[in-house]
Amino acid sequence: MKELVISKIKNGTVIDHINSGKALLVLKILGIDMETSLTVSMAMNVPSSKMGKKDIVKVEGMFISDDELNKIALISPNATINLIKDYEIERKFKVTPPEVVEGVLKCPNPMCISNAEREPVKSIFYISMEDKEVTARCHYCRRKIKDLAKYIS
Ligand SMILES: [Zn+2]
Repeated sequence: MKELVISKIKNGTVIDHINSGKALLVLKILGIDMETSLTVSMAMNVPSSKMGKKDIVKVEGMFISDDELNKIALISPNATINLIKDYEIERKFKVTPPEVVEGVLKCPNPMCISNAEREPVKSIFYISMEDKEVTARCHYCRRKIKDLAKYIS
């Protein structure tokens, strides 16, 4: 099988084994947008022996905190993280879903206080695994959601 080689980075964070098509959402979760001055490279729908197809994101010159990286588990529970220093892998780990996320997901319940136009409050969701699927429950209205990629705000 042909392998797509993305340029190596000197220092920074590589997020591999992202579910295919979710790379842009990963950037959103990490707060990286069009305004960023960071060097970001991204590959989508790369052939993968484990996953069929996968996405990869590389962020040069930035070590993203574990807490931030673990939010990626909401949409890609199998993502792996490589922290690179001087072209070598310094640390490698799998993301684990956080117990609580604030301000990442949008509650689908229009009556929820987190969607109120007056005095909106920051969304808070409690994360759990149900049938190998990442599930979130709203702190305010208790609404339960799956397929979290739809609710990234
Ligand atoms: Zn809610």
